[in-house]
Amino acid sequence: MRKNIVAGNWKMNNDLSESKKLVKGIKKAIKKKELKNTRVIVSPTYVSLSAVVKKAKKSAIEVAAQNMHQADNGAYTGEISADMLKSVGVKIVILGHSERREYFGETDALLAEKVDQALKNKLEIIFCFGEVLEDRKNDNHFKVVESQIKNALFHLDAKAWKNIVLAYEPVWAIGTGETASPEQAQEMHAFIRNLVANKYDAKVADNVSILYGGSVKPANAKEIFSKQDVDGGLIGGAALKTEDFVALIDAI
Ligand code: PEP
Repeated sequence: MRKNIVAGNWKMNNDLSESKKLVKGIKKAIKKKELKNTRVIVSPTYVSLSAVVKKAKKSAIEVAAQNMHQADNGAYTGEISADMLKSVGVKIVILGHSERREYFGETDALLAEKVDQALKNKLEIIFCFGEVLEDRKNDNHFKVVESQIKNALFHLDAKAWKNIVLAYEPVWAIGTGETASPEQAQEMHAFIRNLVANKYDAKVADNVSILYGGSVKPANAKEIFSKQDVDGGLIGGAALKTEDFVALIDAI
């Protein structure tokens, strides 16, 4: 059965002490909660990963990196490898975030390489994709999402999908305060699940968690998370405050 997931992407926010404080606050707040079928993931910046992994021990909190290089090692100044992530206890990596695509030129082809590298290293992947506003206005959103998923993930065999979480994040809704309506989210998530079912089978499609991301906050989370094919959220802004993030966990 697929899991619900509330994942916080801290982006380039929180220095080391702020990161430790935030994870400590979340740990304390969820200690007595019955999380049932829900996973809680936080994704600090690289420099805080090791400390956050340590602080998250003996709690339900899992830790993800925000990015990773596609090579094993070598002369790639400023980059971080899968091995390095594993060496500090990280087991999950976010790939394909729209900010990586937009500001760092990450293409579907590059992401396919990163996906292979992560899986080769037994890292679980939260794979992000989503259309820009113009695509939505021109009614191209389904086509765009389909090609992003096909190009980066459809070379995988069915078994590999055990380690894939999908995150649909319409770019026009990220950090803008604008949210896709629960109906728009459900429509796209059902489309994505169907796409995976057609390529693989119903079992693979049923088991993959599909997260929604884009200005999810305590005020709108419940309605979005209640949709049949929405299995939680990838959260930016609202993941930076303990109370807000915990409210999102409560909303699922
Ligand atoms: C994100 O960056 O993944 C995101 C969804 O950000 P926000 O929640 O701030 O829109």
